[in-house]
Amino acid sequence: MIKKTIAIVGTGLAGLSCAVRLKELGHHVELFEKSRGAAGRMSTKRGEDWTADHGAQYFTARDPLFIEQVKTWLAEQVVALWTPEIKVFEANQWTTFQSQDLRYVGTPAMNTPAKQLAKGLVLHASQTIDALSQKDGQWFLHSAETGDIAQGFDDLILAIPGPQAFTLAQHLDPNIQAIAGQSNMKGCWTLMARFEHQPKVSFEAAFVNQEIISWVARNSSKPLRTGLESWTIQANPLWSQEFIELNKEDVTERILACAKKLGLDCAEAEISVHRWRYASGATTAALGFYTNPTLQLSLCGDWLNGGRVEGAWLSGYHLANQFAE
Ligand SMILES: Cc1cc2nc3c(=O)[nH]c(=O)nc-3n(C[C@H](O)[C@H](O)[C@H](O)COP(=O)(O)OP(=O)(O)OC[C@H]3O[C@@H](n4cnc5c(N)ncnc54)[C@H](O)[C@@H]3O)c2cc1C
Repeated sequence: MIKKTIAIVGTGLAGLSCAVRLKELGHHVELFEKSRGAAGRMSTKRGEDWTADHGAQYFTARDPLFIEQVKTWLAEQVVALWTPEIKVFEANQWTTFQSQDLRYVGTPAMNTPAKQLAKGLVLHASQTIDALSQKDGQWFLHSAETGDIAQGFDDLILAIPGPQAFTLAQHLDPNIQAIAGQSNMKGCWTLMARFEHQPKVSFEAAFVNQEIISWVARNSSKPLRTGLESWTIQANPLWSQEFIELNKEDVTERILACAKKLGLDCAEAEISVHRWRYASGATTAALGFYTNPTLQLSLCGDWLNGGRVEGAWLSGYHLANQFAE
């Protein structure tokens, strides 16, 4: 028996884990996503003969519930361990990064686990939800692309970054205004470089401190990647935020100059650039999720749970459990 009809806006890992769990609990769930498909910031860019994970680079699993999910993904072969040689660059010195953490990546691309979760869910892609209204106890959504969505929903869940939740719902609930207003999210300029040959550098991934760049990774060193030799370079959050409106040419020039300093000369590489307006950040107190039972309106997402992939998945999962009888 169907219990409730629930709309979820956003199909990143939080929205998807929430939807899967709600469906298990017997609810009817429909997801609305502004992009062409699911995955959100756990995504992969593709060209004719290359791919690059340009959002989340890898994820770790510490909570027993998420560890179970990762085991399932490993069995389904949509996730694998990634064991790159990682170095750290700080004050012009290189050191080897020592850590016992297990790092997982989607295979053959970072977005595969999200696509796996989305299988069997009702997902409306290319629907930017830009207005919400309530009538006779039902939620109604308006899409920028197709206008009013006829179906009403008992409950509404916003699984989108804090600043976007603020824009959509701050006028509906002062708590949402307060919580989403403190999401502290920062942007990230990301550069993707393709080479004819593997560059001669002494690392497959690097954490970089006190430079424009904060992370460099050889995408081609991740399991099951094919196509051109591909690298991802991410600028640090503070620099990205300060220069979020800078044009792509200047951003590219500055990031490439820093990459050269790190020994990664991209002069011969084919380059593309992506701007993440809301990449990372979280509320100071990790609420996990937020729900207003009177309004039947809830929020989930990484930003409510410490940031990162694991936090996003857990946020959606725990919110869904609020809908158990
Ligand atoms: C550059 C970068 C590097 C990162 N590196 C790592 C890492 O190495 N390890 C790690 O664990 N995490 C990393 N993260 C963070 C990780 O990607 C996120 O924590 C996680 O993917 C967030 O999932 P989410 O579901 O909360 O949000 P999102 O993935 O952002 O999902 C929200 C979804 O909502 C959609 N949406 C937004 N507004 C609307 C609207 N109005 N209507 C319809 N749809 C809407 C968006 O298109 C998106 O698909 C990184 C993120 C970035 C950007």
